[in-house]
Amino acid sequence: IHEYGQPEHAEVTTCAYCGVGCSFKAEMQGERVVRMVPYKGGKANEGHSCVKGRFAYGYATHKDRITKPMIREKITDPWREVSWEEAIDRAASEFKRIQAKYGKDSVGGITSSRCTNEEAYLVQKLVRAAFGNNNVDTCARVCHSPTGYGLMSTLGTSAGTQDFKSVEHSDVILVIGANPTDGHPVFGSRMKKRLRQGAKLIVADPRKIDLVKSPHIKADYHLPLKPGSNVAFINSLAHVIVTEGLIDEAYVRERCDLAEFESWARFIADERHSPESQQPFTGLDPAEVRGAARLYAKGGAAGIYYGLGVTEHSQGSTMVMGMANIAMATGNIGKLGAGVNPLRGQNNVQGSCDMGSFPHELTGYRHVSDDATRESFEALWGAKLDNAPGLRITNMLDEAVEGSFKGMYIQGEDIAQSDPDTHHVTSGLMAMECIVVQDLFLNETAKYAHVFLPGASFLEKDGTFTNAERRISRVRKVMAPMGGYGDWEGTVLLSNALGYKMEYSHPSEIMDEIASLTPSFTGVSYAKLDELGSVQWPCNEKAPLGTPMMHVDRFVRGKGRFMITEFVATEERTGAKFPLILTTGRILSQYNVGAQTRRTENSRWHEEDVLEIHPFDAELRGIVDGDLVALESRSGDIALKAKISERMQPGVVYTTFHHAKTGANVITTDYSDWATNCPEYKVTAVQVRRTNRP
Ligand code: SF4
Repeated sequence: IHEYGQPEHAEVTTCAYCGVGCSFKAEMQGERVVRMVPYKGGKANEGHSCVKGRFAYGYATHKDRITKPMIREKITDPWREVSWEEAIDRAASEFKRIQAKYGKDSVGGITSSRCTNEEAYLVQKLVRAAFGNNNVDTCARVCHSPTGYGLMSTLGTSAGTQDFKSVEHSDVILVIGANPTDGHPVFGSRMKKRLRQGAKLIVADPRKIDLVKSPHIKADYHLPLKPGSNVAFINSLAHVIVTEGLIDEAYVRERCDLAEFESWARFIADERHSPESQQPFTGLDPAEVRGAARLYAKGGAAGIYYGLGVTEHSQGSTMVMGMANIAMATGNIGKLGAGVNPLRGQNNVQGSCDMGSFPHELTGYRHVSDDATRESFEALWGAKLDNAPGLRITNMLDEAVEGSFKGMYIQGEDIAQSDPDTHHVTSGLMAMECIVVQDLFLNETAKYAHVFLPGASFLEKDGTFTNAERRISRVRKVMAPMGGYGDWEGTVLLSNALGYKMEYSHPSEIMDEIASLTPSFTGVSYAKLDELGSVQWPCNEKAPLGTPMMHVDRFVRGKGRFMITEFVATEERTGAKFPLILTTGRILSQYNVGAQTRRTENSRWHEEDVLEIHPFDAELRGIVDGDLVALESRSGDIALKAKISERMQPGVVYTTFHHAKTGANVITTDYSDWATNCPEYKVTAVQVRRTNRP
């Protein structure tokens, strides 16, 4: 206020960074945002915020914003600014030409977890109704798709079980593969508050993250497991729970499928799953694992919180099932303080998945082969829908390299930087004949595009985001779109030019359509969101005010289902040439590939990605703090500065992926989760050596 004077007006909206989904008041002078003030009425944050949501909104008006549509014939040509009409005509005529020449399945689309629910819904609608296939996927493919698969298989729905408030009732908190104080800071603070009140803490993470030891908090158990051994670890926890009689028998008898439970219990009781037998894989002290298992099972209400350190593995889905198994076995689902809770990375990962962004599912996680579901969409959309699942992102790129997939509409996603095995991604992109990118900036993927449509930031459009606790919150337009249209309007224009009519005058009408087609959303409307502030799905006739906690009396699927979780070691192996394991993550001030935060004042706090390496590994290689090092894997090499850190364990190195010039994904592998193709970002065999090469 001192700098800018009193705001002229303000609107409540939702942070566009992480899956906590904090509410802010955007304070305005005319069309200019002068402050983002954390909103006390926001149920996800209760007036708190972090440095990203509060200060890192300047990217929205950064000079790099592309505000005019552009086209070019070949990707080696310079871009030419054109009208929206010409750009849309070019995109539509190219997609039509490609489909006429190569068949209807030769094109597809990608929805964004940064865009609104309404926008994701429209992109998948365009793919299904206008392209006539199911070749739609979302960037959630590369982060939390195993969450969807694992929780659907065991509990019956692809979402976290609790609201954030639940952690205030936890007696035991088990954090696996997540770093909440950096990745989800506002929720991390809530968790720390509960820990300071005396809740017990188990951290399973290869690094000594802040939670392991910070002022007034010390983890009761830090289990520094080897990257790639998650399933071996969860099986050894489960083994202790089963063989030491720590099961909540009454709960299992009443709530779970008994035949499935018995076969799982027999499987897991086998000595080969004991902490002692699994130690060669996990690297963990068996006594510590046994202690942690006892604490989790018998310490009171126990909540599991996990992140990408669980999902981005070749057994990501298996690990999610393994966590659901121990939660069911100990009666830790359906009550306060308990649950299995994914901490979603992007602001709308949950929402983009809810909206039918996967090639096999329509909204609300209903399979495309289900006739009744498909028919309801066909009746409302007036289009015949394919009943077979379409291609995932990785398959689209594979088929592009092979020559049968030729065109892509990509909204708000930078697959050339964020997806694994960059060389393969760019080969696929280069092989296509029409790529349409809709984004705020000329990102890495736009280097391979033929049509560029200006995107709109969260400040320039109306809509909704759904956070990690299934909370749907309003995004409110506070300034006119710099490129002329919101992203949803661009999709409408493209669909109409393709010959499939879309007509909406406001995103609230899109939400009304979503509600009319999706059983878990039938009670959601903008009027209700304005009245209540936010609402957690399922929100319908049975739960008109929404559902903070799921699976209370029964699981969504009926009986809880125990799944067999055989540990299979990743094919990525260390050896003489690549003896270390690289794992990756984020830091507090930055966000993902940095496209937004690097264009704000936050960049001052993190000017480059560095490689954290244990003193033992550094000394062995003659590396001192600040040395430039080459990080080499079987896929490629990059150069970055070394940071000697006791947070690491010997044999494991760590970096962030916030800067394009470092390009950590150049060196990651092409291994992926067996069920969902989520890439195995968290395990790459590498070598590190000093270098002079910049
Ligand atoms: Fe935004 Fe996440 Fe920070 Fe909240 S915790 S302000 S949602 S980045």
